Amino acid sequence: MIYFDNAATTIMHKEVVEAMRPYWSELYGNPSSLYDFAIKSRESVEKSRKRIADVINAKPEEIYFTSGGTESDNWAIYSAANAINIKGNHIITTVIEHPAVLNTCRSLTKKGYRVSYIPVDKYGVISLEDLENAITDDTVLISVMFANNEIGTIEPIDKIAQIAHKYGIAFHTDAVQAFCQIPIDVKKLKIDMLSLSGHKFNGPKGVGALYIRQGLPIEPFMNGGSQEKKKRAGTTNVPSIVGMGEAAILSDSRLDYKVKTEIELRDYFIKRLSDEIADIRINGDIDNRLPGNVNVSFKNTDGESLLVILDENGICASAGSACSSLKKGNSHVLEAICVPDEFISGSIRFTLSENNTKDEIDFTIKVLKDSVEKLRVN
Ligand code: PLP
Repeated sequence: MIYFDNAATTIMHKEVVEAMRPYWSELYGNPSSLYDFAIKSRESVEKSRKRIADVINAKPEEIYFTSGGTESDNWAIYSAANAINIKGNHIITTVIEHPAVLNTCRSLTKKGYRVSYIPVDKYGVISLEDLENAITDDTVLISVMFANNEIGTIEPIDKIAQIAHKYGIAFHTDAVQAFCQIPIDVKKLKIDMLSLSGHKFNGPKGVGALYIRQGLPIEPFMNGGSQEKKKRAGTTNVPSIVGMGEAAILSDSRLDYKVKTEIELRDYFIKRLSDEIADIRINGDIDNRLPGNVNVSFKNTDGESLLVILDENGICASAGSACSSLKKGNSHVLEAICVPDEFISGSIRFTLSENNTKDEIDFTIKVLKDSVEKLRVN
């Protein structure tokens, strides 16, 4: 199998599986319990909190564990909006966010919030001018993703945060695709809240975290026990949190190598596609994109049929984001960057890891060359 769908999910590293193992059936104590046996669980959770915090230059007490990126996004937007809404009821986000952000904002609209969706240019970068113009006295939250999950474009997060703070507005970023893929420093970038998800950086699924800057008013997300400083109730998911912490330090310690290798593979892939297959377009910002992202559209081709052929050849790729691949219709991200009609339905996302090889890319190019022409409708 050739796995080119690392934005959908990643393999768990063996070290991560090993780190988690004792916490299923040996060290199964509930970290909230008071006896000695539970202390080991509690210490491991706190060690993971520090590990995650260290990767983004946060304080451990600013990290709250959640069930994943979706919950972190929901919490950041929904609860922050509630907590701050004495000031107003206007939220600003972008048209290219993940459904975890878009649908949370839509649900707030039904509760009387006003949401502005900032457009992006043809590379997927938001206009800072449009962002600033959208701000009103009622704006309580700006939420802009760090990097897009479909086209890989990295947003100008430092400048967005600067604008937010100039007007005293809280700034949240969905960094699910960026965390442990590119360096992030929440203090330097002045980020107020940041969402991340374990399974995107070789950790387990169903676990994530929300960074909340100390001092930011925020409401509890789950009501119940006093876990996570009474902000997110529910018995602590110790094995997954331990796994996520291990994955974070492993990925972070290899980040330079990972970024360099993925960029080399990505650029090789893009060059071969451009050199050898006619009538294609690479979507997203060529330079300012996630290291492993190759999003390509083949003119007059059906992407779904192409995915089936790739699958028959053992190649895993995606038509868009995994979350929308079961949904018919064009990607909202590709529509937002104005991919022309004759290209949009022939779009495939390949997302590489540092473990992919040029041989795998060569084989994929061969499969694509053989199939694209056959599939093309004139
Ligand atoms: N945000 C982005 C940008 C994503 O790519 C994803 C998952 O694909 C999520 C949020 C949701 O994360 P999770 O799968 O952990 O709920």
